[in-house]
Amino acid sequence: MSRALSFLSPHRLAWREVPAPRILHPEDAIVRPVASTTCDLDRLIIEGKTPYNGPFDIGHECVAEVIALGEGATGFYPGQLVIVSWHISCGHCHRCRNGLNNTCASHPHGAMHGMSVGGEWGGFFSDLVRVPYARTALLALPPGLDPAHAASMSDNIPFGHELTVPHLQRNPGADVLVMGGVGSVALFAAAYAVAAGAGKVDYVDTDRRRLEIAERLGANPVESAPRRRFGSYPITVDASGSAESLASAIRSTEPEGMCSSVGVQFGDIPFPMQEMYAKGIHFYTGRGKGRPNFEAALDFVTARRVRPELVISEIQPFDMADEVLAAPSMKPVLVRRTSLSDTFLCDSGSETA
Ligand SMILES: [Zn+2]
Ligand SMILES: [Zn+2]
Repeated sequence: MSRALSFLSPHRLAWREVPAPRILHPEDAIVRPVASTTCDLDRLIIEGKTPYNGPFDIGHECVAEVIALGEGATGFYPGQLVIVSWHISCGHCHRCRNGLNNTCASHPHGAMHGMSVGGEWGGFFSDLVRVPYARTALLALPPGLDPAHAASMSDNIPFGHELTVPHLQRNPGADVLVMGGVGSVALFAAAYAVAAGAGKVDYVDTDRRRLEIAERLGANPVESAPRRRFGSYPITVDASGSAESLASAIRSTEPEGMCSSVGVQFGDIPFPMQEMYAKGIHFYTGRGKGRPNFEAALDFVTARRVRPELVISEIQPFDMADEVLAAPSMKPVLVRRTSLSDTFLCDSGSETA
């Protein structure tokens, strides 16, 4: 048997005993999460701010140890530490081949770990998880990188890269506005913008703690509720989850600028369409692309140009996940020993926010 942490209802989670997952297809891997954390969406789910009702096994960000491999899951070995992708993607359909793995055509209903969408794929606050398409889903953790610091590489860290770095490559030195308000994606976006050489990076939030983290990441903290506009920026990112902040980000985007909104809206909201039309605003919303951005995002982390450890709010023993997640801080990381090592991961006194 194996344990899986199940989200039951707002602020209620419980371990449940489940049959240990087995290799079902040659490309499967069985992994054991050793450092798991919450996506910003998980916190909204736990706080009852989404339409997603329990029970389901939660968690889709982790570094894990490889336990078993199907004969087609080549390139990995048991005991290896790996980053595990949040989404289920086959790696060979026309969408995956075009870098759109998060909307894989083989799993058309948004299949992902840690949610009851597109099937049941297991959550990362579990003792064991079956990972299909392991050659696509897994990436070896670089040596020397603390698994706790990399736990969010499954989703939120590469999302920060996706929202800023490609736009800055097209528009070097551009100013960036980031609207925070929920959690880590906004902070990672600010961190990648700074690291990728943005002009100025203004980070807007009302939460003092997140503003302090943004400043440590090199951004300019702006303590403010959403204003009608904050200025005129070529690149804007709204990860606030607030309709007012989204409208503010859109109005703060300069003509022909790029506005991305990833703070999830769970309903229809008004849009300043006339201003968008007059200025020619490029707008994007969607879930993170995930796996195709792992390597590029990881390069910034291994080069210490982006320091995800500054965003971690606490590091706790894995067995306490039910309690810690019941009232989750912004970015808790739950860690445990690997099966091959006596050392407790992440007790190195590493700096956290
Ligand atoms: Zn997520
Ligand atoms: Zn696919």
